[in-house]
Amino acid sequence: MNNRTLLQFFHWYSPAEGHVWGEVSKKAEDLARIGITDVWLPPAYKGASGAASVGYDIYDLFDLGEFDQKGSVATKYGHRTAFEHACRSLTDHGIRPIHDVVLNHKMGADEKESVVVRRVNSEDRTQIEEDDVTALAYTRFTFPGRHGKYSEFIWDKQCFSGVDVIEQPDETGVFRLMNEYGEGQWNDEVDDELGNFDYLMGADVEFRNKAVYEELKYWGRWFSEQVPVGGFRLDAAKHIPAWFFKDWVGHMRDTISTDLFVVAEYWHPDMATLANYLELVDKQLMLFDVALHHRFHDASKAGGNFDMRTIFDGSLVSSIPDHAVTLVDNHDTQPLQSLEATVEPWFKPLAYALILLREQGTPCVFYPDLYGAEYSDKGEDGSQQKVEMPAIGCLPKLIEARQRFANGPQIDQFEDTNLIGFTRQGTESEPGCVVVMSNGEAGHLSVDLGSNHSNAVFIDFLAHYEGEIATDGHGRADFATNGGSVSVWVRRDCLSA
Ligand code: CA
Repeated sequence: MNNRTLLQFFHWYSPAEGHVWGEVSKKAEDLARIGITDVWLPPAYKGASGAASVGYDIYDLFDLGEFDQKGSVATKYGHRTAFEHACRSLTDHGIRPIHDVVLNHKMGADEKESVVVRRVNSEDRTQIEEDDVTALAYTRFTFPGRHGKYSEFIWDKQCFSGVDVIEQPDETGVFRLMNEYGEGQWNDEVDDELGNFDYLMGADVEFRNKAVYEELKYWGRWFSEQVPVGGFRLDAAKHIPAWFFKDWVGHMRDTISTDLFVVAEYWHPDMATLANYLELVDKQLMLFDVALHHRFHDASKAGGNFDMRTIFDGSLVSSIPDHAVTLVDNHDTQPLQSLEATVEPWFKPLAYALILLREQGTPCVFYPDLYGAEYSDKGEDGSQQKVEMPAIGCLPKLIEARQRFANGPQIDQFEDTNLIGFTRQGTESEPGCVVVMSNGEAGHLSVDLGSNHSNAVFIDFLAHYEGEIATDGHGRADFATNGGSVSVWVRRDCLSA
């Protein structure tokens, strides 16, 4: 199998009006050519703000851009037929579609209903008041535009654990919805930030309701019959009981395919928390390496003051590599977004080399880094800001290098504070490479490749460093890098092969 390489084919500001599905179809061939094996697609179903919705304010899981709901038939990314075409274009080129699954909450209910709630301390969700409050809340989803097609399930107050808005009395906050489930307590096996992080937003789903649980399993099976499914990216996992995803992912593997690739968004930098979660879900899924993203961000801000020997310290990929999906940025960390901690452009070639060319971790490339992006939005001070995310010029070459040269055992040379490198030794049939990078001055790394590589000529596959480097009779050479740069040295005689 090829070295698995994900591409997140969208960002927060991806163009609306249905461009994305068409673009997936158009680019599928090119993505396969450069070495992308899996494409993470944005949420494909109708959000509460219709065609303006990025997809995380989920309204109807069964509306893949097919029904006139929330002001439009299409989603932000296009019509259902275009979505189907995009998925088939990917699989036609051997690429697995990874679908974004948003199960924690629903928004944009069709009707309000009379509910009983208890007020919750929003800073400590375990503090739930003892008084019942009768009010109205938007908790009834009937999907009038869909007329019961695919599913006749009606969501109501029995299907949610909490809401953030009530009427009569008119209040906002966090409210525990008193219903038949949980005896007034939140779902457990969720993150313990704020005491209990079950409640995230909107009408937050009650997984202890067996009918809800069965409906979500049915939805997964239904979805896999509509479009090809290579795997899932699970949204907001820290707000969903671990036992639910353990069951749900197991059920999807049993009914769709045992090979499903599943990565959960558990946005937490603490390894003990992530390790605990992996145990709870029986290690059935992968997690994004949040800590490594933060290391990249810090390193990109600190310039030459960052000790590159520590770049992997505290990361998921260094402790549980088989369950780490490594990334540089995503739709939440890009400028003007909620978790903004964007990695500076100068450092991105180094960061991508560190996720794409190493033995450990499954890397995920971010769309704007491959193709660039320009957009504007309100900043923290309320003023309109223009953002330009430049395409990282060497990124297609780095992805290609992953498929061609990231082979065989790995030897690290993390000895200098600013200049580090590692060698992939190759296998009997596939070549390796020598990766050298510096966050400070230009320099070189002395590498002993052994007698198999004596008197061999190497060039920088990224063409950052001009000229050739030849090994001596013992296979030794000084492999160079420019300052603030990375070079990927490969044998010249492997290039024509
Ligand atoms: Ca929840």
